[in-house]
This record gives sequence, structure tokens and C-alpha cells, in this order.
Amino acid sequence: EAKHRGKSAYQRFQPEMKEVSQERLQMESLLRRALEMQEFELHFQPIIRMDDRQLVGAEALLRWESPTLGEVSPDRFIPLAEETGLIISIGRWVLQQACQAVSRWNQEREEPLCMAINVSPRQFRDPHFVETIRAALDESGLGGESLELEITERLILDNNIDTDRVLAELDAMNVRLSVDDFGTGYSALGYIKKYPFDTLKIDKSFIHDMTTKADDSALVRAIIQMAHSLSLQVIAEGVEAPEEFEFLKKENCDYAQGFLFTPPLREDSFITWLNGTMDR
Ligand code: C2E
Ligand code: MG
Ligand code: MG
Ligand code: MG
Repeated sequence: EAKHRGKSAYQRFQPEMKEVSQERLQMESLLRRALEMQEFELHFQPIIRMDDRQLVGAEALLRWESPTLGEVSPDRFIPLAEETGLIISIGRWVLQQACQAVSRWNQEREEPLCMAINVSPRQFRDPHFVETIRAALDESGLGGESLELEITERLILDNNIDTDRVLAELDAMNVRLSVDDFGTGYSALGYIKKYPFDTLKIDKSFIHDMTTKADDSALVRAIIQMAHSLSLQVIAEGVEAPEEFEFLKKENCDYAQGFLFTPPLREDSFITWLNGTMDR
């Protein structure tokens, strides 16, 4: 396109491109130091069983508060962490922190909670990935069944990853496996039965429109039915309205997560929230 419009169009883009890359370079150098400067924090969002509205687990979501940039959304810094490889050390920190947190919580509980963690393709490609998971479980005294790894369809289709071996090893450790943002990856569905998945997480874009758009409600219904016929459980993410909860319940969705219950919380607020709902 720019080629057809000639040299002037190209030149018009140059200053912008420079700005973008300088912003990126700045963020990259700040991100490089963020771990040792202790600028990261994990937040936790409850996952609720729809049957009885009981808490069954939480998703760990990373937060970065940079003194220079302020709070930076994970949608901005996670892709950068992936490109630079920083996600390996950051991801290891997330895993350790999250395992320790749920292990602390479970000491006080009869019904243990499960911790869901997001894993990026770069982490999966790391030859030490399975070992890192094993070490985090050992160090926190957590059983594999208390950890759920959320991976995306994009990761499954990545040819650079020895998907079969890694997923089989994790499955053998009883670690639970879920497909995050299900429905957004425009991929063939065959992988679902090929690999040892436990859960599908329906992307929040479908949940958001399902009570008003017939297409989305049909899709959500079909995903739940398909998942159940393959013995997979379903989590709906981004549940914000009571009507959405009721619709999902009617369609036999297993679990829900979203602002209807609470946004992701710092650990102290999560504990307060947990105690509050248990009293009710
Ligand atoms: P995700 O794994 O799909 O996480 C769900 C996102 O939806 C979170 O955004 C969460 O705060 C948000 N959310 C939860 N309930 C609602 C709701 O009712 N309505 C709406 N509109 N949003 C809701 P967040 O925390 O900004 O994270 C964005 C993405 O960044 C995550 O999407 C995940 O892909 C990535 N991410 C976050 N933490 C980590 C991490 O530790 N490691 C890796 N690799 N990726 C992470
Ligand atoms: Mg997730
Ligand atoms: Mg399994
Ligand atoms: Mg998601």
C-alpha cells in the first residue's frame, strides 16, 4: 500500500515508527529490572462452581506497577515479555508465588482450592518448563491436581513446541490443563481430543454478547455441549451480569469467573472476600 502512494507516504510514517520503538525500548529496559525491583504483584480472581455458587479456585493474574510508567496492563507487557524472553523468569516467579499462595490458603480449608496460571508459548518452549513446574509444586508442597495451566489455541498450533511430550508429562503429574480464550483461535478442533485437556474457558467476548445476540448464545450453548460430550468441564470467563449467570446455569456450564463476583483482588482482599462469602 505505502509503496503505491510513493515516497511521501513512507516518510510520513517514519517519525511515528521511531516514537513507537523508543517507547518500546523504554518499556523493555524498565521490564528488565521490574522483577528485581519487586514491581510485580499477583492478583487473584475467584472461580465459582455454578451449582452451589461455591468457590473452587482462583486465576492468578499478573500486575505491573512501574514507578516510571504507572500501572501497565498485562495485554501490553506480556507480549513484550514474550518477545524478549523475559517471560521465562517472570513466569517462574508467577508460578512460585501462585503455588505458595494456594498452598497457604489450603492449609485452612477442608475443600482445597485449585490455582489457575496463564502460560505463554515461550514458557512452553523452554526445555526446563516441566522441571520448573515440578520444582514449584515440590517447594510449595502442592499436589499437581491443585494447579491448572491455562494455555491458548495459538500455543497448541505452534510447531516449535513439542506439545505432545510436554502435555503428556504435565498430565502424568496430575496437573490440570485448560484451553484459555476458547473460540478465538480459529483453529481446527481436533487437538481437543488429541491432548489431555480437562477444561475449556469460553472467551469473554462470547459471554459479553450471548444474552443479546442469537449467534453468540448458540455458540456458547454448542461449546458447552461439545465440551461435556468429550468429558471436559467449562469455565465461562467475563461473567458480569446476573442474566449471564442464569443463562449459563441453564445451559449447564460448570464454572464462572467475572466481575459479577469480583474483579481480580490482591491476596489480602481475596482472603477477606473468601471469608465474607463463606459466612453468607
Ligand atoms: P486471560 O487469561 O484471558 O484473563 C482474563 C482477563 O479478563 C483478565 O484480564 C481479567 O482481569 C479480565 N476479566 C475478568 N473478569 C472480567 C469481567 O467480568 N469483564 C471483563 N471485561 N474482564 C474480566 P487481565 O488481568 O488484564 O489479563 C489480560 C491477559 O494477560 C490475560 O487474559 C492473560 O492472557 C495475560 N496474563 C495475565 N497474567 C499473566 C501471567 O501471569 N502470565 C501470562 N503468560 N499471561 C498473563
Ligand atoms: Mg487466563
Ligand atoms: Mg489430566
Ligand atoms: Mg481468557
